[in-house]
Amino acid sequence: MRFASKGFRLFAVGAALVIVAIYFVHSSLITASEDAVERSARYDVAWVGAGGRLEAAKLQMALASYISTKDPQAAAQVALYTEILVNRFGIYEAPAFRAFLNAKPGRERILDRAEGEFLKARPQLLDVESLADGDLAELTQRLAGVLSAVDRVGAEAHTESVEAAELYRQEVRRQQQLQRWLTTGLFVLIATVVGVVALQNRFLDRAHRQAKRNAVDFAHLARHDALTGLPNRMAFNETFERLIAEQSVYPDRGLAIFAIDLDGFKSINDTLGHAVGDLLLRAVAERLERRTSSLSNTLIAARLGGDEFVVVLDAAVGEDEVLSQAQRLLADVCLPYRSSDTTLMLGATIGVALSSTGSDAKDLLVDADLALSLAKAHGKGTVLRFDPNIRDTYERRSRLESDMRDALVAGDIRPNYQPKVDILTGRVIGLEALARWSHPALGMVSPCEFIPIAESSSVIVELGRTILETACRDALNLPEEIGISVNLSVNQFLRDDIVETVRRTLQATGLSPQRLTLEVTESLMISDAGSAVDTLVRLKALGVSISLDDFGTGYSALSYLRSFDWDEIKIDRSFVMELETDRRARAIVRLITSMAGELGIHVTAEGVETNGQIDALSRAGCQTGQGYFYGKPMPLEDLAAAILNSFDASQPESNGSVREPIAS
Ligand code: C2E
Ligand code: CA
Ligand code: CA
Repeated sequence: MRFASKGFRLFAVGAALVIVAIYFVHSSLITASEDAVERSARYDVAWVGAGGRLEAAKLQMALASYISTKDPQAAAQVALYTEILVNRFGIYEAPAFRAFLNAKPGRERILDRAEGEFLKARPQLLDVESLADGDLAELTQRLAGVLSAVDRVGAEAHTESVEAAELYRQEVRRQQQLQRWLTTGLFVLIATVVGVVALQNRFLDRAHRQAKRNAVDFAHLARHDALTGLPNRMAFNETFERLIAEQSVYPDRGLAIFAIDLDGFKSINDTLGHAVGDLLLRAVAERLERRTSSLSNTLIAARLGGDEFVVVLDAAVGEDEVLSQAQRLLADVCLPYRSSDTTLMLGATIGVALSSTGSDAKDLLVDADLALSLAKAHGKGTVLRFDPNIRDTYERRSRLESDMRDALVAGDIRPNYQPKVDILTGRVIGLEALARWSHPALGMVSPCEFIPIAESSSVIVELGRTILETACRDALNLPEEIGISVNLSVNQFLRDDIVETVRRTLQATGLSPQRLTLEVTESLMISDAGSAVDTLVRLKALGVSISLDDFGTGYSALSYLRSFDWDEIKIDRSFVMELETDRRARAIVRLITSMAGELGIHVTAEGVETNGQIDALSRAGCQTGQGYFYGKPMPLEDLAAAILNSFDASQPESNGSVREPIAS
């Protein structure tokens, strides 16, 4: 484009210069041809010469007629033509004729001599009647010389002026030809200029249209996400601000906001590559777009960046409808993503905030984000509606998160121990280490609260190592018969080199591996069964026992029983709780116990609280119980005596079951 406009500029300057040049050449040509015409007029010597010849011939004829007739009328004719010829000699003096005479040497002399002769003869010619015949003959003779000179000069004048006229004519023709060329050139040039200007205009027009289109494109690009085509954060902010401003005008119109985040997107990006990640984001955006555009109350659906999306809706449809819309959206996003060669599953979590719940419109996004963060921390894959408690929960969570490392260093997070008791003998056969956080400001914090927080970062590794090491050291102060169980969470398992950690801890503390049991849950198997089993095998090779915790709460427990050589399974509290009231719970516990017996797996029942449960458990053939009935988790100092007591208590009655709580 720049090149073209430079070319046009050069062309315009060139054309202007050529037009000026043509103007000058043209006007000088006009002057030249005027001059030629003038010159040709001035050089009208042919006529002058021819006039002289004619007049001389007439004079000669008149004289001859007088001589033959002596007619006085012929004498008058002679006098008249004599005067005319005198006058002619005067005309011969005109500069143009003089120039002709001067052009050839001798020509002027001949004529001058002839004029002299003629002027000498003039008196006799004016009065021929007085002349005798002899004089007349002499006069005729003298006049013949004059007239022949006039005739000769006149003839030359004729010839020369015809030649000169031809030359002038040629010159004028040339000039006219040149003028014609110039005029044609001028027209061609003008036509070219007009054409070029038209072309230039078309170019400009096209460039203008292109620029306008570019401007539109830029505006679109600036406000839309390049990958998914959805409105981007900037567009969202603008729209959201406008909606909030309108909110003060229509306070009755509620707004709802969905903060959407994909679950596990980062790991898909990391393991399958960014190209797959991009495809997936596009597919998610498409589903989001399709769903939200089918809802009449959608105000905007945007991608804020990464795997974060947001939807704003008019909440006039009612809170329940908005929540069900969120559920439907979640269901859409969670459907399998199929391509020609693979199928991917992707989860999502949605935080919902509604202005009807008393939130200030401008805080809605923050509220939805809080609900989202909380939902992600508690299990993902859900829709969580913001309520004011969430803010407190979130603040508490942030506080715990930021205080956790210091708490570990300060020793505020330590294990309590809960006994595992032989149902028949009542003997404590082991202890389960259960972490407790004694927070200086918040008091006792449950592991149910802080373990998931620790799991969301690498702190879980440090926390896990601390509990493991403390438990192993504490075990050294207990009787040899007492085993020690330590819980391993999924993320600790995945983030830490758990085999090496356990090996080093055993080595550092000197605890016999036979006394250590590691409790894992089914979720470990779900996360990555292949390598989980592999790690469990390596752990077991260290000599430690592996226990399957919370058995029965998962999905496909039986297949997990087959996949690894477990040492223990712990029947989940939810079954034990219903043993006295639910026949089916009893049947399930019986089944698990007998199946485990066949496989040579030790069975422990969790959450034992009553005598009746113990009866049912012993009838089902379950060997070990753990629960408040035997003792709550407690610090080691409080436990030591109880354990010793249980030994004392069990000694005399070793053939019957002991049904006394160890401590309360
Ligand atoms: P869990 O491994 O299933 O631990 C048993 C939980 O049941 C403990 O809760 C225990 O106090 C409670 N419990 C025991 N007997 C009874 C009973 O008779 N009735 C009732 N209602 N509850 C009983 P706690 O200590 O709050 O621990 C909760 C969960 O936190 C544990 O479940 C375990 O999954 C996790 N956890 C605790 N400590 C650690 C740890 O050091 N590391 C890891 N990774 N997870 C831990
Ligand atoms: Ca456990
Ligand atoms: Ca458990």
